[in-house]
Amino acid sequence: MSDLDGAIELLRAATDVTLLAHVHPDADALGSALALGLALHRSGATVRVSFGEPESVPETLRPLDYAGLLVPAAEVPMDAPLLVCLDTGSVERLGPLGSRVAGTVAAGGSVLVVDHHASNTFYGTHHVVDEHAVATAALVAQILDAMDVALDEPLARCIYAGLVTDTGSFRRATPETHLLAARLLAAGVDPDETARKLMEAHPFAWLGMLSGVLGRAQLAPSAAGGRGLVYTYVTQQDARDVRPEEIESVVDIVRTAHEAEVAAVFKEVGPARWSVSLRSVADVDVQEVAVSLGGGGHRRAAGYTAEGPIEPIISRLLEALSS
Ligand code: 5GP
Ligand code: MN
Repeated sequence: MSDLDGAIELLRAATDVTLLAHVHPDADALGSALALGLALHRSGATVRVSFGEPESVPETLRPLDYAGLLVPAAEVPMDAPLLVCLDTGSVERLGPLGSRVAGTVAAGGSVLVVDHHASNTFYGTHHVVDEHAVATAALVAQILDAMDVALDEPLARCIYAGLVTDTGSFRRATPETHLLAARLLAAGVDPDETARKLMEAHPFAWLGMLSGVLGRAQLAPSAAGGRGLVYTYVTQQDARDVRPEEIESVVDIVRTAHEAEVAAVFKEVGPARWSVSLRSVADVDVQEVAVSLGGGGHRRAAGYTAEGPIEPIISRLLEALSS
């Protein structure tokens, strides 16, 4: 299924490569795409990196685009010769760019999927998929090593961005993750500055937004078979003065309530359209829950989208957690 050699052969021969991250890209998705894109760009290929939505690039991730490889979704060709999808478990997670997968295949091109989601649907023609990888960025580092690409500071910073965020600041790291991180630091990455800018630097308006959103948090101690659920929601009105980065960070605060092993944040991404972030500690597999509600993710971090008023959506999650 997973075929590193096939992927390397494909990448070495490529002269035109389109790399895609999932919708609302995070540091792992975009860092991975930009790292691989930069390496291919340097070896002379025409490279573009994009994602389906939103229209703008998350501010904290912009500095990772050293070579100006990012293009708007509208500029992604319908039938690229080689499409590489990173950190994206299914075609649906490409959002409006999902059509490019079938377009590429129909035109005789190749689709390489590089990902670490257990829920990956193997929708490409070639796959480097390993659910045990701590981050897609770690898989990209393996690919670059196999291609004999030296990890200099720009490449290293893109990979570090994915590693530090997806491992929860290395709390879910393996010995191999630390060995890779050591190489990235040796290449010149500043770990404190990189992590702070990615995860801790928020505008003052964040504090006001948090006070409203955290003030309505609820604890359901009997949810998830007595393991407990803590949750809140963020409306578009709450989100009006802050960046997506601030909205994404809410779940990291909510999940610190130790009476609950599961945390959920419902984020209103369009009128009555909610993107739901699930987190768990210990025994609860939130990926299973997310999949049952049409989403996906990992054992301890997963998500799905839902439409309609918030109350029934909360009830549906409580039901899914108790089954
Ligand atoms: P986050 O809560 O940080 O947005 O996402 C946590 C995990 O769940 C990530 O691995 C992400 O890919 C996955 N995820 C989040 N939302 C969705 C969704 O709507 N559909 C699917 N399939 N996965 C999602
Ligand atoms: Mn990831």
